[in-house]
Amino acid sequence: MGPPGAGKGTQAKYVADHFGIPAISTGNIFRANVSQGTDLGLQAKRYMDAGEYVPDEITNLMVRNRIDEPDAEPGFLLDGYPRTLAQVEELDCMIEHTGHRLDAVVVLTVDSEEVVQRLLQRARTEGRADDTEDVIRRRQEIYGEETEPLIAVYRERGLVQAINGMGEVDEVTKRIFEALDVIDES
Ligand code: AMP
Repeated sequence: MGPPGAGKGTQAKYVADHFGIPAISTGNIFRANVSQGTDLGLQAKRYMDAGEYVPDEITNLMVRNRIDEPDAEPGFLLDGYPRTLAQVEELDCMIEHTGHRLDAVVVLTVDSEEVVQRLLQRARTEGRADDTEDVIRRRQEIYGEETEPLIAVYRERGLVQAINGMGEVDEVTKRIFEALDVIDES
């Protein structure tokens, strides 16, 4: 978890490789569906373009189908999910059904001004439709309203690993590995 631009997607790949599990990024799955012009993509696009969350029913069904795939059987890392309380509850049901359990919730903590600068930079280099300045602001706002409160929920369960997300990518990766390897060994 972490605000848009905290580096979740970048770190998710390294962490998933490290543990030999798939990184399941809801944002990437939505973007792939948008570019393939699927029904799901058509439904998701208008929310994404406005910086709003795609409705829970759509998002939850998509994640449920994805984690039922064979490559997720040994475990998986979720990037960008859950983002709402309803998604937290749904995830609990899903993993009860698949026999998994949540090992950790990695929270990347960053300086919010730096985050906005990173997103503006990404907008220039990758040209994502949801990286205009207005949309970036809206996405930060929604994160604060809908997603940040979930950290307290997971903290109560003792799952949160708060990681300093500032600095070079490989430094942040190292911090995450250090925190997660301890859990993996226990
Ligand atoms: P991301 O790449 O994770 O920043 O996601 C890009 C966009 O996809 C978000 O701004 C939302 O519109 C949508 N999205 C991704 N994950 C979720 C989620 N868990 N719940 C609702 N919408 C999501």
